[in-house]
Amino acid sequence: TKQNGGKNYTIYDYHLGRKFQDNNELEEELIRAIKDQIISPYFQPKLELSSGKLIGCESLARWQRTNSDYIGPDLFIEIAEKKHRINELSKSLFLETFKSISEMGLSKDFVTSVNVSAMVLLDDNFQNNFIEYITQSGLALNQIEIEITESCLIEDFEKVKSTLSSLRNKGIRIAIDDFGTGFASLNYLTQLDVDTIKIDKSFIGQLDNQVKSNRVIVESIINMSHKLGYKVVAEGVETCNQLKILKSLNCDFIQGYLISKPLNNFYFKSFMNEFDFT
Ligand code: C2E
Ligand code: CA
Ligand code: CA
Ligand code: CA
Repeated sequence: TKQNGGKNYTIYDYHLGRKFQDNNELEEELIRAIKDQIISPYFQPKLELSSGKLIGCESLARWQRTNSDYIGPDLFIEIAEKKHRINELSKSLFLETFKSISEMGLSKDFVTSVNVSAMVLLDDNFQNNFIEYITQSGLALNQIEIEITESCLIEDFEKVKSTLSSLRNKGIRIAIDDFGTGFASLNYLTQLDVDTIKIDKSFIGQLDNQVKSNRVIVESIINMSHKLGYKVVAEGVETCNQLKILKSLNCDFIQGYLISKPLNNFYFKSFMNEFDFT
């Protein structure tokens, strides 16, 4: 569905295909859901391999639809963009994320990442608003990281670059998400100052099998990132074997179902309190 630049989409899910003959019905439901703020952030922890500690989390949007099929953020974010509701949705997700995390009273160096789409990043008011949301929650700017996909970089590179560098100068961290799946990544990467590279889960899922090239790709991304001064997160880590391989390759952080799936505010808080990695 991404081939057409996000301007149109096809609902290919079997259940949805039956339920939403007409996309309008889903669009209207989503617009109401955004207004009523029933889309909330869930939190997935990130583990530091060297210490075994949970040093951060990623905020992921969840739409709580009662008695209806699950619709993931990949799809509803795309619809929200198409219907020009993405700024409104992102604002409520940022506010709820910062408030929830702030109230958990986690360590001062715990970093919370939020996904920011190109449309949101390129909005002229984004920078000022975003900083204000963080500050009013009581968190420090260096406790927040922005995850930008590679595809975001091709929209308006000069503007993206200046926005990111200005945010970064204020202490906000920048991560390149889904690394390895976009175009011209290295070319853009060398022109940007970022903190973190997130290796896409499609590479991690294949680490277990016997194909040597997967391991070589992951190893190369890690080594290159370290030489450029970036930390590396592997996403989608599901098995102990993947963890071991990533540890042997000097990957910095892992995120995935092996540690925890994304959890709501309440369960995330108790997970953070009870977690002990041995
Ligand atoms: P992403 O940023 O690449 O997020 C990682 C996705 O991998 C999430 O899917 C997460 O739930 C899933 N995941 C985590 N661990 C594992 C694992 O061990 N195995 C597997 N198979 N998957 C794992 P999710 O939550 O469905 O989100 C999909 C995408 O939607 C995200 O990809 C991100 O691009 C977008 N998204 C989610 N929340 C937001 C948001 O608040 N704002 C924006 N702009 N985009 C969002
Ligand atoms: Ca992400
Ligand atoms: Ca990702
Ligand atoms: Ca993704």
